[in-house]
Amino acid sequence: MAVIYNFSAGPGVLPEPVLREVQAEFLSYKQGVSIVEMSHRSDTFATIVEQLEARLRRLMQIPDDYAVLFLQGGATLQFSMVPMNLRESGRFVYLDSGIWSKKAIADAKHYGDVVVAGSSAAVKYRDLPAWPKTISDVDYLHVTLNNTIEGTRYTELPDTGVPIVADVSSNILAEAIDVKRYGLLYAGAQKNIGPAGLTLVIIRRDLIVDRDLPSYLAYSKHVDTLLNTPSTFNLYVAERVLAWVEGEGGVEAMERRNVEKSGLFYDALDASPLFHAVVSGKQRSLTNIPFTTGDAETDRAFQRFAEARGLIELGGHRSVGGLRASLYNAMPLEGVKRLIDVMHEFEQEGQ
Ligand code: PMP
Repeated sequence: MAVIYNFSAGPGVLPEPVLREVQAEFLSYKQGVSIVEMSHRSDTFATIVEQLEARLRRLMQIPDDYAVLFLQGGATLQFSMVPMNLRESGRFVYLDSGIWSKKAIADAKHYGDVVVAGSSAAVKYRDLPAWPKTISDVDYLHVTLNNTIEGTRYTELPDTGVPIVADVSSNILAEAIDVKRYGLLYAGAQKNIGPAGLTLVIIRRDLIVDRDLPSYLAYSKHVDTLLNTPSTFNLYVAERVLAWVEGEGGVEAMERRNVEKSGLFYDALDASPLFHAVVSGKQRSLTNIPFTTGDAETDRAFQRFAEARGLIELGGHRSVGGLRASLYNAMPLEGVKRLIDVMHEFEQEGQ
């Protein structure tokens, strides 16, 4: 079978050794039943969750005064759970850096007054809004650290007097994130962690307050316990993916590889007579790289050309069009080299 390279923005490529392991274990996991038939309260399953949390804590150096929650509902449910749970004054500050942050802002407005401290909407999110100089009297500052659709990322954090809440859906475990500088981090799992259907929340314990909320929606009900039946299969796969990340050298090694992969690809785009990157400068994402020929028809022709050569999911997000290559942890360097070769082929003969 020809090699397929999957550049999907999510659900994205997972490590092949993990997929093979999952396949081999699927019918019978330890107790002779499938992992998807096993009680989430069984000892076997409890061990999986414990190991998953321990691996995540090691990989991200999560301090003890932070809780790790395994939830459902995607990053999208966190757009609401964050303001519901962190609400004290009912004033929140957001940076509007892309389509996902815009959605987070829209949902937060149901629970308080949202101050948008900076927005790059006017330049179609090709740039990042600057951090606000001073903020006070708000419950938190929300930022999307890596903008999956637009391909920008923040690399520096300001010192603020308020907790920083970050959506790290598309860069968690792909680059170092200094957890102790944040009040809360959240991420949908379906890019660097496992299948869709699992959401991670890492929250400083002093921010967890018992509130009059429906039980599933209160962080306090999920701390150090499984409140209800979690997405068991996803937790199991996530634990295996994190074992793979640890085996490969951890987040440091992932970041090093992602810098190399994205650097190679940006260099190829910058040197190309036909393609160019949408984002310039140090705001370029390591994991999501939008690019274009400048012509929608030629972009589509390239997508078909690449697909015929086993390079799939290179279309830009449906809201922005163009092309996009997502280079998550499980994308090997060979995939990026192959993409660059196919771009050269297209430049020479494809049009
Ligand atoms: N935030 C970011 C940065 C994302 O990339 C995504 C999904 N691609 C979301 C939020 C929404 O996540 P979900 O579909 O898990 O709700």
